[in-house]
Amino acid sequence: MIQLEHISKVFDGKKGQTQALKNVSLSVQKGEIFGVIGYSGAGKSTLVRCVNLLERPTEGRIMINDRDLTTLSNAQLNESRRKIGMIFQGFNLLSTATVYQNIFLPLKLTGVSKKEANERVVKYLRIVGLEDKQEAYPAQLSGGQKQRVAIARALAHEPEVLLSDEATSALDPDTTEAILDLLLKINRELNITILLITHEMHVIQKVCDHVAVMENGEVIESGSVLDIFTDP
Ligand code: ADP
Ligand code: ADP
Repeated sequence: MIQLEHISKVFDGKKGQTQALKNVSLSVQKGEIFGVIGYSGAGKSTLVRCVNLLERPTEGRIMINDRDLTTLSNAQLNESRRKIGMIFQGFNLLSTATVYQNIFLPLKLTGVSKKEANERVVKYLRIVGLEDKQEAYPAQLSGGQKQRVAIARALAHEPEVLLSDEATSALDPDTTEAILDLLLKINRELNITILLITHEMHVIQKVCDHVAVMENGEVIESGSVLDIFTDP
């Protein structure tokens, strides 16, 4: 479903170049939860930004559903970007808008009709368990509830892939468990492929099928979670 082939990314800075990614290849199968784990600075965010088409790799190819993203026009890239949902550590909700508006407004911006957008808000708030919070503002919600709104907002665009960038890193252990259970449910019931970035091994062990371990911009190990994180 998602294939990264020999991706490199070099940033030019005042103090010279930084190679954030070095020859990274990985393959995410449709329907799975794929984890990328590594310490801070390993290149995880750069990797997500390349998959999300926010950053262009210096070298290599990114294929999504056998489409080579490097050959797409801007219009086609925008189209592809819509098939990718994204959730973050900091939730990125609009503080001046209600829960309902936070999900509804971006749908309207991408041309979804009012009626359809309304139905999707209701549907996805029910899936994340927040149907009674439509009129609340983000400041009135707990961290876990905010992340649920962000998940509903991403799902409302009906993406094929959900990218989760440290989505549980700001949450306490119980809330983390609940959000991970929600991601598992979304993966199984809505059949959405998830690419999950984290620095926490227990997150990978709880939800992922396959994992890539990154260090200094390179994938140093990858395979099934059972093989990689089970002591011999
Ligand atoms: P992680 O998400 O694993 O913490 P990052 O992808 O953020 O890692 O960073 C990998 C490396 O690339 C780091 O050395 C970082 O300083 C560098 N880097 C990331 N983004 C930029 C940028 N826009 N310009 C220059 N260097 C960057
Ligand atoms: P700009 O700021 O003008 O969008 P970019 O370097 O971000 O400049 O993108 C320039 C072009 O590179 C885009 O129009 C797009 O065609 C292509 N591009 C951007 N990101 C990616 C990516 N992840 N994979 C392949 N091509 C990309």
